[in-house]
Amino acid sequence: MAKRMASSSKTYGIENWGAGYVKVNRRGHVEVDVNCGLGPTVDIFNVVQELVGKGIQPPLILRFPQIITHRLDMLHECFRKAIEEWGYENRYQGVFPMKVNHRREVIETLLDTGRKYNFGLEVGSKPELFVALGLPLAKDQLLVCNGFKDSTYLTMAINAAKLDRNVVVILESVEEAAKFAKLIKRVEGKQPSLGIRARLYSKGSGRWEESGGDQSKFGLSSAEVLEVIDILRHEDLLDILRMLHFHIGSQITEIKRVKNAIKEAGRLFSKLKNMVPSLKYLNVGGGLGVDYDGSKTSSDSSINYTVQEYANDVIYTLKEVCVQENIPMPIVVSESGRSLAAYHSILAISVHRGIKPMPEMEKVPLHDDDPEVVIELGEILRDMTQKNYREFYHDALERREEMFTLFNLGHLDLYDRAKGEAFFFEICRTAVKFAHRDKGHVKEEFLDLESNMAGRMICNFSVFQSVPDAWAIEQLFPIMPIHRLTENPVAGALIADITCDSDGIIDRFVDIKREKEFLEVHPTDNKTPYYLGLFLTGAYQDIIGDFHNLYGRCHEAIILLDDEGLYHYQKIIKGDTVRDAISSVRYDPDAIIARFEQELNNRAKNGDLTQKETKAMSEFFKAGMEGTTYLYEPLENKKGRRR
Ligand code: PLP
Repeated sequence: MAKRMASSSKTYGIENWGAGYVKVNRRGHVEVDVNCGLGPTVDIFNVVQELVGKGIQPPLILRFPQIITHRLDMLHECFRKAIEEWGYENRYQGVFPMKVNHRREVIETLLDTGRKYNFGLEVGSKPELFVALGLPLAKDQLLVCNGFKDSTYLTMAINAAKLDRNVVVILESVEEAAKFAKLIKRVEGKQPSLGIRARLYSKGSGRWEESGGDQSKFGLSSAEVLEVIDILRHEDLLDILRMLHFHIGSQITEIKRVKNAIKEAGRLFSKLKNMVPSLKYLNVGGGLGVDYDGSKTSSDSSINYTVQEYANDVIYTLKEVCVQENIPMPIVVSESGRSLAAYHSILAISVHRGIKPMPEMEKVPLHDDDPEVVIELGEILRDMTQKNYREFYHDALERREEMFTLFNLGHLDLYDRAKGEAFFFEICRTAVKFAHRDKGHVKEEFLDLESNMAGRMICNFSVFQSVPDAWAIEQLFPIMPIHRLTENPVAGALIADITCDSDGIIDRFVDIKREKEFLEVHPTDNKTPYYLGLFLTGAYQDIIGDFHNLYGRCHEAIILLDDEGLYHYQKIIKGDTVRDAISSVRYDPDAIIARFEQELNNRAKNGDLTQKETKAMSEFFKAGMEGTTYLYEPLENKKGRRR
């Protein structure tokens, strides 16, 4: 049993990407450890089953706020250690970029836990600023205002400073500086701080590399920085310029890119500090990555450094520059989002149509009167061995070709063809099995064969709503069954959603060496529930998701664990109903109900429907309007009643 569990962990690479938060327990279920190895843990298969019992069926998001807390504490501890180790003469003060996850519960957790660190928020738009102004941000917690700004945005930020918020307005262009100067003239009293977003020559690495570099969409060139300083000097506002900011892209995969950027930004800060003595913060942006595939490499889905290495390199490199330039060391601000939020949420999905157990080939007998080509396929299967599997597989390819030609000419019937196909499929499976046993590398041909044989497992969820980045930018997320991990997975599958879109499919899976083209799954009878988990979905997915086919937001359960490992639901949030989804595209659900009822009444008047039928159909329609947008089968209770 223990061996089987260890083998499951290996198959799905949990120890590589789980970062200590995800494990397999003795019952072969996935469990979550909110303190990354220190416990307590919760069996998420049990949680899903319990929620299903309450009528909360997957797809559902399980959120663990304690993981956010753990990530936040870890980030601060890493910076504390780095500051102490390198004798850095100032402090670290982070902010959370709201766009990474706007969910109220996520932001509130971050602010609650972060208060002791003066951890603040970064907003990148006017609506985000409105949200932030409704949150209890204390006066030492920074509120960094990024993004393109109109007069309303700027005025709101200026007003917030008057209410003692620690606002830093980051100027993203020369025009914004001029606009700000005009607006601030009209107000008296407390003023916000200003910052400048610089466009560095240094780039990040990985998928978001182009967010940095001298061609990037954001930030000011050196000439523009000087122009903004002139404007501020002229308007007598230079003394509120306090922050230099840069961001070279999300998910930086290589640590050396971080070091390069800090070197350049450190020099820039030093030169500016000599002109603008009020400068005191260096905001290094986001980019601290997540190891989605667990390979610890600089591949797009991974990172080749730890959080501690990141903190060490930021602090050490910056100290070096400051010492050389003989300037006081700035307060280091970072806008890490992904690294704090990704681990805390798991999407649990149920399989709607799984992979059936393979037919047993003994049950497909060969008969003397079977067509020759079918007999030959049967014999290939019977006689295939470790030594001859390549040659026999190639023979089978020819026989299959021949079989289709004979079928097209009308010489084979459908039963012959079905039998021949069953033999061919089994030949492929056997060849793949032998190929894996072969010494040395598995030949490319058989790896391709293995992926082509993967079935489609249809799961009750929408890729576009729940893991949009898997579709939009082909990002990898760890996926695995959350139970039955004491059994061998016997088939390979692609994970298809229920949208009417062939793009709604996941066909690349994490692996430490080489991306996998299928997921190892267990056979299902489509009656017994089979659940998969999609992990590390807490950053960006919640907000980028869309309503393709009008599949709406999923149910959510926010789960807290006590020291004994007892869990409770801090909140269960119902997902969108059909009413919510259709309202979002500006239909009026009540008008639709009224029209439907009108039609029913007309039919009833004509005698096409009885009063009883009319009533039942109307009630059914109204109940459906308040139901989930996803597939939902009511559970039957012991008396066979549906609920
Ligand atoms: N700050 C800014 C300005 C960003 O654009 C982003 C995202 O790209 C972030 C912070 C967050 O980055 P990450 O989630 O990689 O930490």
